[in-house]
Amino acid sequence: MKKSQASLPTNFAVLVAQWFSAHARDLPWRKTTDPYKIWVSEIMLQQTTVATVIPYYERFIKRFPRVEDLAKSPEVQVLKFWEGLGYYSRARNLHRASQMVVNDFGGKIPESRDQILQLPGIGAYSAGSILSIAFRKSEAALDGNLIRVYSRLLGIRKPVDESAVIRRLWGVARSQVPSDVLIIREFTEGMMELGALVCTPKNPQCSQCPVAQFCRANEKGIQSEIPIKNKRMNRKKLRETVFVRRRGDHWGFLEKGADPKFPHFQRLPFRSLKIDSRVPKHFTFKTKYSVTDRDFEVFVVVGTAIRKDAKMVWVPTEELSNILLPAVDRKILRHLQDYSSVCKFKK
Ligand code: SF4
Repeated sequence: MKKSQASLPTNFAVLVAQWFSAHARDLPWRKTTDPYKIWVSEIMLQQTTVATVIPYYERFIKRFPRVEDLAKSPEVQVLKFWEGLGYYSRARNLHRASQMVVNDFGGKIPESRDQILQLPGIGAYSAGSILSIAFRKSEAALDGNLIRVYSRLLGIRKPVDESAVIRRLWGVARSQVPSDVLIIREFTEGMMELGALVCTPKNPQCSQCPVAQFCRANEKGIQSEIPIKNKRMNRKKLRETVFVRRRGDHWGFLEKGADPKFPHFQRLPFRSLKIDSRVPKHFTFKTKYSVTDRDFEVFVVVGTAIRKDAKMVWVPTEELSNILLPAVDRKILRHLQDYSSVCKFKK
């Protein structure tokens, strides 16, 4: 056998499931077997940390406890409960998918791979994780975290963004799915937990790892070199000035869709700046935010004139918590003392 063709032991899934049962964090979506709630949690957890997701998940499930409640709610309300979580296409897809579940699948989350893949926002990873966690189906899951874990375990020194390597890793993930339905959920969640807590991108805790004895990267001390990636995402650095303007008890906003980055949101008036342009002279404070591959440095200017052609919508203070705003604008408003004293952000 070539060294790159390393394989995992037959009791691999049992070891991971046992470790998970002993070390699992107590998370709200782990206390339920309701496929709808597990689905919501899986979508929220995409590209978002557990700590961030918990309060959003709890608020969301309280407001939309059943798939029918989500399906019949207006999109704007669904987005309101997603506000601040980012990647808003997830919320819109979840909402559309809930309507499909109600209209086409009799209100039941589909249990077959072919059917669940028809729902907007569900790809191969989500399908595998939802089916194995909610229905204990023998389905594999493979996301960025699990690509890292499997490629270290097998000591794969080829770039994991190459399709042949991804295909191979999917094959490995499928081959490890246990046939024992009693441990399928624990295995899938155990692999995710391993990636989140132990086999972390930097400084993996190999001494705590339940499968360290089978790990090629651990054996050779090359954990920090794996996974290898060809394409490094070049993040763009950008600047913006954001203007906070009040007229008595009303606050000025641009209309919904004025900023293409946030097509479903209103925004505080803003102006894009070139990264090499001069910093505005009289900004009140600075903040920052990120959108996919772009990092914005934001200069907040309070109380100055805005560009004349901007169509302004004036919102009374008591309505501020009801409009849809991107997290950066909400953060700016919360930063302002007089805002926080008269209008608390609704939890
Ligand atoms: Fe990851 Fe270390 Fe475990 Fe290998 S031994 S899977 S590198 S945590």
